[in-house]
Amino acid sequence: MFKSAYIRLTAWYVVILMALSLAFSLWVYREAMNEVRLGLSGQVVVKLQSRFGTGLPADVTAAIETQYRETHWRIVGNLVLLNIGVLGIGAIASYALSRRTLQPIGDALEAQNRFTADASHELRTPLAAMKTEIEVALRDTGADKKELRELLASNLEEIDRMSNLTEGLLTLARSDSTPTLSPLDAKQATEEVIQRLGPLAKAKKITVQADLEPFSVMGEAKSVTAILCILLENAIKYSPQGAGIQVSAKRKDGQGHITIADTGPGIAQSDLPHIFDRFYRADSSRSKENIAGHGLGLSIAQKLVSGLGGTIEAKSKVGEGSEFTLRLPLAQ
Ligand code: ADP
Repeated sequence: MFKSAYIRLTAWYVVILMALSLAFSLWVYREAMNEVRLGLSGQVVVKLQSRFGTGLPADVTAAIETQYRETHWRIVGNLVLLNIGVLGIGAIASYALSRRTLQPIGDALEAQNRFTADASHELRTPLAAMKTEIEVALRDTGADKKELRELLASNLEEIDRMSNLTEGLLTLARSDSTPTLSPLDAKQATEEVIQRLGPLAKAKKITVQADLEPFSVMGEAKSVTAILCILLENAIKYSPQGAGIQVSAKRKDGQGHITIADTGPGIAQSDLPHIFDRFYRADSSRSKENIAGHGLGLSIAQKLVSGLGGTIEAKSKVGEGSEFTLRLPLAQ
């Protein structure tokens, strides 16, 4: 589909270029021939006429005619060559230009197709599981109330997973909008997030220690809170029972740094470059432990942070823990 779009756009560029080149050639031809006519009749002919009286000898008139015709064909020949050159070079340049113009659209389309394929793949698994469970229950006419309740509870779990997934997808789609930046109290925002996720940490007997310097960053409260929630929720999710999490906020190198460090399983060096990709889950989180997730959290955080003009850096060592640092521009 994109190949034909490249060719169509190239053709349009060439048509426009050739229309301009032909119009220019026509103008050059007319001007040049006018000059030749004026030159021949204005200077040579007048001088000759004054010397020979009113009439010119036939051989002189024939020589003028020949000169005029030769000049005409020389100009036409040069203009044809010029137009062939413009057509050749113009076609190559137009193709290169059309590729450059359409490349970002092609990339965006490919990313969207990949996104749709990944999203449907993620939704297909829980839907298939639910379908099989329901089909088996329907076939089993002797299923008692307890078994049916268990089936409904398991289906409800799958529905919760799918709700989380669709919510994540919606957040990703919406995070394209440009945020409105204003000074934001980083200490207060971090404290709010720690408090909000308190019950989650408490359920795993995890202690969250905070060392927060007071400073303001440029950001949008909603986005900054969402990013910190994703980072702290991951730290809690991947930490073992009773572990400790350190949250610190400080000014460094003219930026505001908020760091969340855990002592969880860590992330392999081979996985680190991919954890911000959509739907990416490191092997350890997929198979070794049954930790819920779709691999969308960090890609959402990454998208939000780039909208704020900041960065997120991940450092990790397998078996020792992970450290995520959110960097945002300081408010003046
Ligand atoms: P999810 O947690 O839903 O799988 P994320 O996008 O939040 O998705 O994270 C992507 C992957 O990065 C996770 O699957 C996990 O492998 C890894 N990860 C993220 N945060 C941590 C952490 N604090 N400790 C260990 N691994 C982590």
